[in-house]
Amino acid sequence: MPSFRSFQPPSRLLLGPGPSPVPQRILDALARPTIGHLDPAFIGMMDELKELLRYAFRTGNALTLPVSAPGSAGMEAAFVNLVEPGDTVVVCRNGVFGGRMRENVVRLGATAVMVDDAFGRPIDLDKVEAALKAHPGAKALAFVHAETSTGAVSDAAALCRLAREHGALSLVDSVTGLGGIPVEVDAWGADAIYSGSQKCLAAPPGLSPLSFGEAAVAALKARRTPVQSWFLDLGLVMNYWQGVGARAYHHTAPINMLYALHEALLMLREEGLEAAWARHRANHLRLRDGLAAIGLHLFVEERARLPQLNAVQVPDGVDEAAVRRRLLDEHGIEIGAGLGELAGRIWRIGLMGAGSTPENVDRVLEALGAVLG
Ligand code: PLP
Repeated sequence: MPSFRSFQPPSRLLLGPGPSPVPQRILDALARPTIGHLDPAFIGMMDELKELLRYAFRTGNALTLPVSAPGSAGMEAAFVNLVEPGDTVVVCRNGVFGGRMRENVVRLGATAVMVDDAFGRPIDLDKVEAALKAHPGAKALAFVHAETSTGAVSDAAALCRLAREHGALSLVDSVTGLGGIPVEVDAWGADAIYSGSQKCLAAPPGLSPLSFGEAAVAALKARRTPVQSWFLDLGLVMNYWQGVGARAYHHTAPINMLYALHEALLMLREEGLEAAWARHRANHLRLRDGLAAIGLHLFVEERARLPQLNAVQVPDGVDEAAVRRRLLDEHGIEIGAGLGELAGRIWRIGLMGAGSTPENVDRVLEALGAVLG
């Protein structure tokens, strides 16, 4: 029976694949009074927010803004603006999100040339090079930098370089990467990249930071066909986010969420990007050692491990869903299950954003030890 009372969420420690714990300072920002989305004070905040995003992405790209929807919309915005019917896109798939990229390409009436690697492995550069050579007119190379479904990181710098050498745009998913591991948009020469607010940036879900470089903007301007999505058409969205002087109404911005992202990025800047990366790495190593001490093993080979997303092999004979349930019920800790072909085979322990602390590592290790006996 519904109670029709205000919803009071239970106390949870979010150590899954996202969302990650949101610090009180960010929740406080979210709760500030809503003002108009064309209010000059709000527009001043938006300008600062874009500057903070450039800091996080390490880019000078003018077209850098948060898409008003979760990471999947950032993904869709990147594809729908850059890919036209009849185009060919080389798509790397070494996890679930590479598969989602393929869906985007196919639904746009374009051809997806797939480069498949086993789930849990980084993207194989030789295979990508061969695919780009075999499809010289490919419009873009799309790949996931930090595969949340497997815990593997791929060499984004090398992949962007390969794309450039073959005249293709690089289209990068760093939903889980941004704020947790180096993301170097300008140094990589990444043409289009998007992320999510709810992972290593420590804000609630619902916004997708995105950045387009000059080549991507030129491709957008040179389109033969209009962007199929009205809402995600960056040519229109830019009139609101980038207009000089009067900003044109496009959609009502998620005002309070933007306060939250602004605060989250301020916190990242105060900590410093390099310090945040080092923190994620140190806590990953603490978790790795603690897991080994209770006989658990990481799924991904050492050189390709994401510090913020730790895929742990489920020991033979263990009911993985029952373990997750007991962690939640008895310890208030959420960890993630495996996705796709890894369902039932791994747990995913996220140490993202504000969740990446030594105390949280010790809590989850202690709880896992107690549940596994
Ligand atoms: N890409 C990756 C790598 C992700 O991990 C996620 C979400 O987990 C997404 C895209 C989609 O983001 P969202 O769930 O915010 O729509």
